[in-house]
Parts: sequence; structure tokens; C-alpha cells
Amino acid sequence: MAGLYLHIPFCSQRCSYCDFYFVTTAMSQDRFLKALVHEIQHYGREYGHREPLETIYFGGGTPSLLPTGSVNMLMDTISEAFDTSSVEETTFELNPENGTPAYLDGLRAAGITRLSIGIQSFFGPDLEKMNRVHSSQEARSVLRAVKDASFDSYSMDLIFGLPEQPGEYWAANLEIATSFDVPHISTYSLTLEEGTPLWKQVQRGQVQPQDDAAHADAFAFTMDYLTSRGYEHYEISSFARPGHRSRHNHRYWDHTNYIGCGPSAHSFWWSGLPASRWSNVRNLKRYEALLSQHVPPLGDREHLNLDALADEYVLLRLRTDDGLDLDELERRYGVDLLTEKLSVIAELEQSGLIHPVRNQTVRLTNRGKTLCDSITSRLLPD
Ligand code: SF4
Repeated sequence: MAGLYLHIPFCSQRCSYCDFYFVTTAMSQDRFLKALVHEIQHYGREYGHREPLETIYFGGGTPSLLPTGSVNMLMDTISEAFDTSSVEETTFELNPENGTPAYLDGLRAAGITRLSIGIQSFFGPDLEKMNRVHSSQEARSVLRAVKDASFDSYSMDLIFGLPEQPGEYWAANLEIATSFDVPHISTYSLTLEEGTPLWKQVQRGQVQPQDDAAHADAFAFTMDYLTSRGYEHYEISSFARPGHRSRHNHRYWDHTNYIGCGPSAHSFWWSGLPASRWSNVRNLKRYEALLSQHVPPLGDREHLNLDALADEYVLLRLRTDDGLDLDELERRYGVDLLTEKLSVIAELEQSGLIHPVRNQTVRLTNRGKTLCDSITSRLLPD
């Protein structure tokens, strides 16, 4: 079964750390929605009969800048273009300033079952540094409103490792999140992406970035704090109460198929070799112009052979708590990693960075998770 991702590229203002594709001008939503409908219909014709949808995800950008009537219209379009009878989860990214009770009711009525809320921090100085629109007050009030709105599940994002962020802010962010009993929490270590306003401030020496050791300490604290409060740490950045894992995100780590619509959206489809990954143009005007001529708005396309897929599988699975299944790696990708990397695996076990291999599965320990990238590069197939 497949997933569908819709990228809604509008934002009220630019967050200082963000390098997603978005526009902040009040460009016409109508033109974009018309193009998006064309694209959904195009993929429905091309892929809709191949696999039913299992998950739908509205991301961005800021999907919550769409009126609920538009969300409703998009949901109808999806149902007409694809087989949605098996959809188990429909997630919608919500910014706190948009989460009024009336808006949440509208989303429920449109068929949204899960929210992902971009809180990032409950502290004013953090939010100002990030140039977020919402206030610390709104960060709390949206959680109260969402709790009352009875979605099947919801998640919130938090960012740690901000320049000059006091350590006590991070601990308090986790404490506040758990005091609301949020069922799913995604925690992201700040990455300074080149060209973003925050990156420029660091280059000019206006703010001091935190070093790697501080990031690792904050991450280790996060793992201890959330798992001791009943959260399952099921992927490097993702913590969930039992039964509240993100189904949509799972497909990114499992190599299952998904279609992305909207400017900059990515797609992946593997039904025979080579598999295909492609992305849309990162330009709203170009995106609309191509679709108005019934041309798919393709940016890049790459074909992935089995070697490339095996590398990705190792990289993605090591991020998960289910771990890297060596039998699956051999059966599906033709790589016998246990033989190939026997000495590396033994060394990683001895250093306490991976658990002893059981049931043919390699899983990182908590210490290993703080070094995930370097361990992954040592385990990539030759
Ligand atoms: S709201 Fe999200 S997509 Fe928009 S600028 Fe901020 S982080 Fe980026």
C-alpha cells in the first residue's frame, strides 16, 4: 500500500533555521490549489490503480494556512483519484497560531485523523530566535484545544541545540510536553542549513552555535527523560506512546511507495528494478505553469539499483528501534552484511554502540544513537 504527501508551500514568515521550500508572499492559493488538483488527478491516473493508499500527509510550508473548505476539497479530490478505502491515518501539520477550536473542528470534519504541531519550544526567547509566528502562550493553548478536539492521535515537534539555548529550557520543554501527555513527540537537533538566516547570524559571529558535545548531551537527556516516562523511542527523532507511532513516516524507513504532490515534494516508487525517486520543481510559479500545460512538474529523477537501495536500507533501518534486519537485507537486497562486516559488528558490540545481534537484527544502543551517522558509514555495504 502507498502513501500520499501533499506539500502546501505557504508560510506567514520565514523561520530562521528553515530550508524547506515555501513562499511567504500572499501568492494566490487558488492558482496553487488548481495545480495541485491537476497533479493529484495525474498521479491517480498513473498510480491509483496499482496500490491503494494507506496514509495521507499534509506537510509544508504551513498547511494550516489553508481554509478548511480547501482541505475538504483536496480530500474529495484524493478520494476520487485513489482507492482510499484502506487509509489508516491522515496527518495534517498545524502551526499553533492557527489551532482555534473552530479550525480543528473543520479539520476533523474534513477527515483529518492526526495532527503534527510545530511547537518547537514553549519559551519566548527560543521562539524569537527561531522567528516563529506563535507565542509561548499559543504553544500551550493549542495543546489544550487539540486535546479537547479528540483526534485519533497527535504529535508535536521540539527543537534542541539552538544557539545560546539555556539547558534548563530544553528540560522544561520536555517537562511541559509530557505534562500535556502528548502521545507523540518528535525532537530535532538543530541543523544550521547553509543560507538560512540563522546560519548567516552564526557566520557573522552574532550568535554562538552549540557544539557537538552539547547536542549529544541534550539528545542523551531526551532519550532518558522520555523513555522513563513511557515513550517508545522508535526512531532517532521520534518518541511515541504505545499505539501512537506515525504510520506515514514508517514508509520512509521501509522503502514502501509514496507519491509527493506540490512544489519540492519527493516521491519514491519501487515495483521493479530500478526503483525511482523523483522530486518536483522548487518554484511555485514554475510548478503552476507546468501543470497548467498538463506537464508533470518534475525537478530531478534518479533511478536506484539494488546497491543504492541496500545502502539506503542500512542507513534508514539503523535509525529505527526495530533495527536493521540482516535476513531482510540479504533476501530483498542481496547483501550478506554479517559476513561482510563481521569484524566491524563485533567491534561495535564490544564498544557498547550496538546491542548483541539477536534474531539477525542490528540495533543501536542509546550511546550508539548519539553516533548514528558514523556507525552507519562503517556498516554501509562495500
Ligand atoms: S513554518 Fe515551517 S516551513 Fe514555514 S518557514 Fe517555518 S519551519 Fe519553514
